[in-house]
Amino acid sequence: MKAAIEEALKGLNEGGIPIGSVLVHKGEIIGRGHNRRVQKGSVILHGEMDALENAGRLPAATYRECVLYTTLSPCPMCTGAILLYGIPKVVIGENQTFMGAEELLKASNVELTVENDKECIEMMQTFIQQHPVLWNEDIGE
Ligand SMILES: [Zn+2]
Repeated sequence: MKAAIEEALKGLNEGGIPIGSVLVHKGEIIGRGHNRRVQKGSVILHGEMDALENAGRLPAATYRECVLYTTLSPCPMCTGAILLYGIPKVVIGENQTFMGAEELLKASNVELTVENDKECIEMMQTFIQQHPVLWNEDIGE
């Protein structure tokens, strides 16, 4: 989670939305990323998507041994990617400021750990206060 938070802060320093994610395979980080919608003018580069993209193409068997860490509860798009590739475990920094598609993940037998980490919560709440329009755009509102 520390690496995911580092990614989120990197995004914030770039003028982006502070959400970070890392893909971990057998204890080793194989992909890291952060939300780059603002930086790249992208419609799909949420933190989780960026981490998956940066990990590159992987065999299906590898995803099934991975854990995805993300600083914020995954939205329906990122949840779709998690389910598509069969990632069995997701560690979530917080779901207080935004509740993603956790019910769908649970219903699909993905193991979830929600840390409700103070740093993750503060980072998101401060950003949303300062940039409500950017945030609403990120979640399709
Ligand atoms: Zn997302």
